[in-house]
Amino acid sequence: MYPNDSTESGRELRLKQEYFLVSASVQDIIARHKCRLANIRNLADEVAIHLNDTHPVLAIPELMRILIDEEGLSWTEAWNISCKVFSYTNHTLMSEALETWSVDLMGRLLPRHLDIIFEINAYFLNALRAIGNFDDEFVRRVSIIDETHGRRVRMGWLAVIGSHKVNGVAKIHSDLMVNTIFADFAKIFPERFTNVTNGVTPRRWINIANPALTAFLDKHLGEQDWRLHLDNLVKLNDKADDAQVQAEFAEVKKAAKVRLADYIEKELDIKVNPEALFDIQIKRIHEYKRQALNVMHIVDRYNKILENPDADWQPRVFIFAGKAASAYYMAKKIIRLINDVAKFINNDSRIRDLIKVVYIPNYSVSLAQIIIPAADLHEQISLAGTEASGTSNMKFALNGAICMGTLDGANVEILDKVGAEHCYIFGNTVEQVEEIRRNGYDPLSYIEQDHDLRRVVNQISHGTFSPEEPTRYNDVLQPYGDHYQLMADFRSYIDTQAKADMHFKDKAAWNRSALINIANMGFFSSDRSIADYCRDIWYIKPLTEKELPRRPE
Ligand SMILES: *Cc1c(COP(=O)(O)O)cnc(C)c1O
Repeated sequence: MYPNDSTESGRELRLKQEYFLVSASVQDIIARHKCRLANIRNLADEVAIHLNDTHPVLAIPELMRILIDEEGLSWTEAWNISCKVFSYTNHTLMSEALETWSVDLMGRLLPRHLDIIFEINAYFLNALRAIGNFDDEFVRRVSIIDETHGRRVRMGWLAVIGSHKVNGVAKIHSDLMVNTIFADFAKIFPERFTNVTNGVTPRRWINIANPALTAFLDKHLGEQDWRLHLDNLVKLNDKADDAQVQAEFAEVKKAAKVRLADYIEKELDIKVNPEALFDIQIKRIHEYKRQALNVMHIVDRYNKILENPDADWQPRVFIFAGKAASAYYMAKKIIRLINDVAKFINNDSRIRDLIKVVYIPNYSVSLAQIIIPAADLHEQISLAGTEASGTSNMKFALNGAICMGTLDGANVEILDKVGAEHCYIFGNTVEQVEEIRRNGYDPLSYIEQDHDLRRVVNQISHGTFSPEEPTRYNDVLQPYGDHYQLMADFRSYIDTQAKADMHFKDKAAWNRSALINIANMGFFSSDRSIADYCRDIWYIKPLTEKELPRRPE
C-alpha cells in the first residue's frame, strides 16, 4: 500500500494507486445513487463521502469531473454538491507529512484533474479577493498551488477548501490545527472546523483480544452490555477498592502476561518473567514518538543497577513493536538500536532478571491483540504537540494498563477522565515546548547539567551497544539538533518512571488504579466517535427499529 516515496517511480506508483481506489469508489457511489434515485442533483441529500486524511483527496476533482463532464452539470452546481458531500479529517500537524504532488507529475498522469484543481483554486482565490482585506502574502499562503518549492498541489489545502467540515482527532489536536497549519483557513471559514476525539471498539479490544477480562466484566457489570454501551464500565469505580475484585483483576492480568510470555519464548526464544512489570511501547517507529527516549531510560536503569546492584529494583520487561517506513533511515536505525541494546543487556548476567528488552517483529493488529492485554505500563511519550490523538493509549487503558505519557493527543483527555493519581504524566507542555523553541533550544545545556543524561548519551553515541561498529549510533541522539527535545524531557521522564516502580510494588494500589482506568474509558468507545460524526459532520441518524432491514426468514 505504501511504495517507497524516496524515488520518482515510487511516488508515481503511489499517485496511480490513490487515483485508482478513489475513482473506483466515486464511480460506484454514483452508480448506486442513480440506480436508486435516478437524479444526480440530489446526490448531496443522500451521500456523504469522508476524506480520512489527505490520501483520498483526489475524490474531490474526480467527483467534479464526473458531475461536469459526464452528468452535464454547471461548475457552480457541481461545486455546491461537492462541498456538501465531502468532509475531511486531519491526522497530523506536521506540515511535511501533508501530501503535496508536483504539478508536473499530476499534469502527466491526471491532466483533467489538474485542470479542475486549478479552476477550484481560481474560484476560491477570486472569492477571497472579492471579500477583500487579504494581502498578497496571505493569498499566496492559502493557494492550493505552492509556488515556493517548485510548483506543487497541496492536497491538505484542497481538502479544507472542498469540504463543509474539517476535524481533528483529539481536543488538543483540533485546537492546534486551527492555530497552526490551518490558521489562515480558520480565519476564512471559522464555522468549518470542529473536533471528534477518536475512539476504539470494545468488541475487538476487549471481547476478542482479552477473554479473561471479558469474563471478568460480564461477571461484575449489570444488565446493560458493556460491548454496546461502554459507559457501563463506570460501575467498576465502586468495586475498585474491593480487595476480592482487585485480586480477580490481578488474575486476569496474569493470564494475559503468561500468554504474551509464551509467545515471546516461542517466537524469539527469550524467557521473560510474568511477575515483572511489563512496560510496553508499540506503535509506528517515528522520531516524534520518541522510542529513543524509552531506550535512554533503559540504559540509565542499566547503569544504576550496575552501580547499586543490591537496591530493591523493580524487575521490568521492556517490550517494543512497530514498523518503520521503508525509506525512513533514522526509524530503521532506532529499530536496530533497540535490538542491540536488548542483546547487550539481556546477556549481561549482572543484571539478572531485573531488565529484559524485547523487540517483537511484524507489528500488526493481530499482534497488538496479544500484546496490549499484557501491559502494566504503556509508553505514550511523544513530544507534546506532535501526536494527533493516539489510539493505542485507549486500547491499553481499556485493558487496565497505566499510562506513562506526555500531555499530548488523547492522553490529555484520558488524564481528565481517569485522574492524575492513575496516570503518570511527565515532560514539557505544548506551551513550554514552544517557549523553549522561541528562546533557542540548547540540548547541550541539559547534557552538561545532568550526569545521568551525559553518561547515557555518551554510551549510545560512542558504541557501548555496538562494540563491533562503535560509530553505528553516533547520529541517533542529536546533541545539537534534537528536534523532538529528548534531552529536555529526560530528567522528568526518569523521575516519573521511578514513581511508577514504587506504585507497582503496592499491588493493591496498582490494581485499584488499573480498575479505575478501565472504569472511566467509556468515552473512548468508537461508538461515541461515530455518533459524533453522524450528528456533527454527516448529518445522518441511526435507523429506528422499524427501519432496520429484515433478516430473511
Ligand atoms: C492501535 C494501533 C496503532 C496506533 O497506535 P498509536 O500508538 O496510537 O500510534 C497502530 N498500529 C496498530 C497495529 C494498532 O493496532
